[in-house]
Amino acid sequence: MAHQVLRIAGSSYSGSTALGYFLNTFDGFLFGSELYKLLPSFVQAYSPPRITPCDWCGMHCPVWSDTLRASILGKAGSSLADVYEALFREQSAVRVLVDGSKSVRWYLDAPMDALPLTYVVAVKHPLRLLASFVYNDADLIPRGRRDSLEACALYLAQRREDLLRYVDATCVRLRRQYEAIFELAASSRHVVCHTDSADDVQRTLERLAGHYATTFDLARMNAKPCHALGGNRSLVWQVRGYASGPGQPARDQARFEYYREQGAGAIRQDNKYEILFDARTQGSIRGSSAYRALAAVLDGE
Ligand SMILES: [Zn+2]
Repeated sequence: MAHQVLRIAGSSYSGSTALGYFLNTFDGFLFGSELYKLLPSFVQAYSPPRITPCDWCGMHCPVWSDTLRASILGKAGSSLADVYEALFREQSAVRVLVDGSKSVRWYLDAPMDALPLTYVVAVKHPLRLLASFVYNDADLIPRGRRDSLEACALYLAQRREDLLRYVDATCVRLRRQYEAIFELAASSRHVVCHTDSADDVQRTLERLAGHYATTFDLARMNAKPCHALGGNRSLVWQVRGYASGPGQPARDQARFEYYREQGAGAIRQDNKYEILFDARTQGSIRGSSAYRALAAVLDGE
């Protein structure tokens, strides 16, 4: 079968990376995660240029090799389409490349005529999304107040107006982001995956396995390397020992281990909103028009 690209689209904290790790267990699939990090427009926006290591191999990766990286960087204006082409040129055994670049911004830059394309849109319950944004925002909750979720909740309870303002603005931003994603995905084959539902993740994986005439086995997360280009900062905090910053090789495989654990048991549901937002705050959030508009977009598909 011809080479194909499966793009995961979604906001930050939408569960896209976990989904990618699961898809990597499909025969012939390779999850590259945030492939835009190979593009000159990303790498050269930093000084010194920002080289993102492979989560599995560190800097010396047979998939995201120096040769491949140089070919992308050597062409001014390379887009994700150039990344796909270079990957399939060097790794002919890969049948489906899974791109977790997530954002419409990168996908729009790489119109796809040559390769069959599918989108998976990763969504979660809006309260779960909002809790992740709140929890990971160092301006909203300073580092010194993050000893535990309960400590964060207490800090936020004393700044309720700030919190509600932040949540409202995040709802507006997320709604716009998902409207653009659904608009982009509508022109291609696409499926929506509720990554906070183990049943829906399983259904999505089975549906995709049927479409690509392949099989998946989450137990293979133990065995099959995942050459993902990372960058999810929250995991740096969640997983002790994972690497060290831009351009530095991963010191261990803790990030991989994190996702392997998720696949091994039931898919873990992140319910920190229940602690971060007290009942009164949850009521205010659910009652706001910005929240309801976001929920309508996420439910609409
Ligand atoms: Zn690698």
